[in-house]
Amino acid sequence: MLLKELREEVYKMNMELPKNNLVVLTSGNVSGRDLKTNLVVIKPSGVKYEDLSPEKMVIVDLDGNVVEGNLKPSVDTLSHLVVYRERKDICGIVHTHSPFATSFALLGKPIPVYLTSHADYFGEEIKVSRYASPIPLEDVGKALLEVINDENRPEWVKKHSSFTPVVLLKNHGVFTFGKTPSEALKYAVIVEEVAKTYYFALTMGTPESLSTLEVKKWYERFHEVYGQN
Ligand SMILES: [Zn+2]
Repeated sequence: MLLKELREEVYKMNMELPKNNLVVLTSGNVSGRDLKTNLVVIKPSGVKYEDLSPEKMVIVDLDGNVVEGNLKPSVDTLSHLVVYRERKDICGIVHTHSPFATSFALLGKPIPVYLTSHADYFGEEIKVSRYASPIPLEDVGKALLEVINDENRPEWVKKHSSFTPVVLLKNHGVFTFGKTPSEALKYAVIVEEVAKTYYFALTMGTPESLSTLEVKKWYERFHEVYGQN
């Protein structure tokens, strides 16, 4: 069986979606790309989370041909592949319709940096893409790349992150990107938490955003000091 470790990681990260209340029924998907072979491991289409296993993950090449697996890959596979083809630095993608973050996607409303935890992880506002149609097939991936590739980001964020890791896809949902599937999953959890807290604050009043200088301080502390390394 190909890519045993990556299969295991992609399976585990898919199982984190229902655990973290980011999905309902069979919606949502996680994929991971192996840089050596350029093969992508992704969740099968329409299979219940409780019925998934590492063996049921599907392996496709960057053209979307199934290389290993008996099940059909996620219907969103091409959107993942369009991103992987262009960004060698992205090796993990998560897609959900998690409701708090998605409500901002519905309104086309970016999330400014109000929370210190938002500043820690992202250091800039959470951006919304243009609306993308399911036809032509590559439109979603292209809309995602327009935001992923956006160079209009603070220099001190670019120093640590070569791409925009979160995109709210207009009228649709959330896509997150990482160097690994686990990293992309972490962002999917955090962005939902940030959106939820911001939403609750908006129901009670008007939160004050953090100044750019304060955002920079939190971001740099988190990326340069926090943790055991
Ligand atoms: Zn979707």
